[in-house]
Amino acid sequence: AKREGRGRVRVFETEMDQELRDRRLLQHDLRQALELNQFLVYFQPQARVDGEVIGFEALLRWNHPTRGFVPPDQFIPLAEENGLIVQIGEWVLREACREAASWPRPLQVAVNLSPVQFQAGDLERSIHQILLETGLTPTRLEVEITEGVLIGDFTRALNLLRRLKALGIRIAMDDFGTGYSSLSYLQSFPFDKIKIDRSFISNLEATPQSAEIVRAVLSLAHALNIPVIAEGVETEAQRAFLAREACEEMQGYLVGRPDLIERYFDLVGITVER
Ligand code: C2E
Ligand code: CA
Ligand code: CA
Ligand code: CA
Repeated sequence: AKREGRGRVRVFETEMDQELRDRRLLQHDLRQALELNQFLVYFQPQARVDGEVIGFEALLRWNHPTRGFVPPDQFIPLAEENGLIVQIGEWVLREACREAASWPRPLQVAVNLSPVQFQAGDLERSIHQILLETGLTPTRLEVEITEGVLIGDFTRALNLLRRLKALGIRIAMDDFGTGYSSLSYLQSFPFDKIKIDRSFISNLEATPQSAEIVRAVLSLAHALNIPVIAEGVETEAQRAFLAREACEEMQGYLVGRPDLIERYFDLVGITVER
């Protein structure tokens, strides 16, 4: 039994080593990914619940030379660990704003910000700079933050949010309902939008609790005069429920998957010569 036990421990350690080695390899490749042009920005439409597209969320993609597309859930934590997310996040912002500024219609663009971007670097300056550089009207830019931003140096984060808002950009609370303190954060900052997390939407039909939670979030948000966008809307039944409950906006495969922006030009009536 002892030998078997020891053997098992060794196998376990080897797997851990492999995982660690793999993470180090990815992290190494990540350092060159920007220079080597391996990042792409995909865009996913955001629509009113009647289906009218009003903007897009920018979603980062890493096209790795041998691994193919590495999902953001796998590499963003690594980029946060080594601080690269500051540069990468700035690149996404610039690309998204440049793209949006080129559209002949004033559609909105939403960009995700990492909590690390609030702690390191000068986020206010870089956003201000990017807006000037691209000429994008600030009111067309929305940044999506999770409650992670407000964990840690709360006062610093709050001040930064206020200054960002003063630039004219809008602040959305992402993944609403998944954290521990979503409610108390609504009290500390006037968010411009709430994004109900996908998990509540995908369970709408299966679990009656989810429908009640979505109703409660909508009623709370509306009492506070904050419009709501539902994430991960995949079916007409989900859309119909949201429309009945007066949810303002939706995003999800029902409207469209994240893709190259050109794929959506027809849908939003953009004709551009490139
Ligand atoms: P998120 O901000 O909550 O983004 C929504 C995620 O749900 C996206 O995954 C999107 O592709 C996916 N999604 C959208 N509609 C549906 C649907 O109808 N069904 C299902 N099953 N999924 C849907 P993605 O693109 O893999 O991004 C994952 C996460 O990575 C994002 O979650 C966000 O937290 C992070 N991320 C992506 N791009 C960036 C970025 O530029 N900066 C930062 N800091 N984080 C990013
Ligand atoms: Ca988001
Ligand atoms: Ca989410
Ligand atoms: Ca998320």
